[in-house]
Amino acid sequence: MPGALRSPLACAVVASPYELAHDELAELLEGEPRYRVAQVWRALWERGARPEEMTELPRSLREVLGDLLRPALAEQARSAAADGQTVKWLFSLHDGAQLETVLMLYPDRATVCVSSQAGCAMGCSFCATGQAGFRRQLSTAEMVEQVVVARRAALPRRLRNVVFMGMGEPLANYDRVWAAVRHLHDDMGLSARHLTLSTVGVVPGIRRLAAEDLPVNLAVSLHAARDELRDRVVPLNRRYPLSVLMGACAEYVAAKNRRLSFEWAMIDGVNDTARDADELAELALPLGAHVNLIPLNPTSGYSGRGTPGPALKEFWALLAARGVNATVRANRGTDIDAACGQLAARSGASSRTGAPTSRAVAVRAPRVPH
Ligand code: SF4
Repeated sequence: MPGALRSPLACAVVASPYELAHDELAELLEGEPRYRVAQVWRALWERGARPEEMTELPRSLREVLGDLLRPALAEQARSAAADGQTVKWLFSLHDGAQLETVLMLYPDRATVCVSSQAGCAMGCSFCATGQAGFRRQLSTAEMVEQVVVARRAALPRRLRNVVFMGMGEPLANYDRVWAAVRHLHDDMGLSARHLTLSTVGVVPGIRRLAAEDLPVNLAVSLHAARDELRDRVVPLNRRYPLSVLMGACAEYVAAKNRRLSFEWAMIDGVNDTARDADELAELALPLGAHVNLIPLNPTSGYSGRGTPGPALKEFWALLAARGVNATVRANRGTDIDAACGQLAARSGASSRTGAPTSRAVAVRAPRVPH
């Protein structure tokens, strides 16, 4: 047991400082002056400081905390776009599971896309994470740490937006995700308006979300607007078909008065026809949903490819002509495997062969479709 702390909690190595509730931190620091608790809490949550960086603490205490409070995330790979505006991490966890995090930098702000599960059980046909399958739920601390790391890397820009659109289906890990949202809002000071949860259509989760006290944004990864097609692209649709999903979306909009968005991965010849635009408009208009069109990132396990630029613009124009508010999102992912699951898929071989645990790759720019 490290020497400086008398608390029984100090007998155990804590996996992540972000696993500790405020009263558990107070217990850990038992015997220290009372103001230390607020000092350490602020250093962790407001600055994202590591214990060795907490120079306001005596050196002995810094060392003890450094032994006890170990980060949950170990950087295994990092890719940076050539223009430096996008960074993607592959982190490994204590049990060998992996997760990905993407930071997108803009002139005046930054957005981080975090993972909520290691892998995913939803099996969306076009998605590298879905192709690799589900490993386990991420803990709240594992999600919070992704934001802490990204916030540090974004400096001097302010990390303003957090989107749960990385690996996994956030509403299938509801309690831990919501605890992370509360920490981001209550302890890191992020506005609920800048927090977005995405889902492929976990209807009970949308209904729970509608009853929460924070009005976060909801992004539904729709990708198809008729059941016959969506059953194939997003298998969860067989359980919660579009009529049920749209009902839950309407409840959310009514309860929260927040803008709903539909994410639409544009797949050449699959969901980018005039018929698809008409069907999408019929779903989006009554809900006032904003549509994000994202060219599909290619993955090795799916033969479909992204809709080419001219066809994508045509699709956008069809939506606009119907009065739908739609945006074509730049695909910031192709060059650095930034679509969810791609870096993990590519890195698996190198980690098994004992390749270096961290690497830097210089490339162009990305974006993550859920
Ligand atoms: S698109 Fe999202 S929900 Fe579907 S398999 Fe990939 S990570 Fe899971």
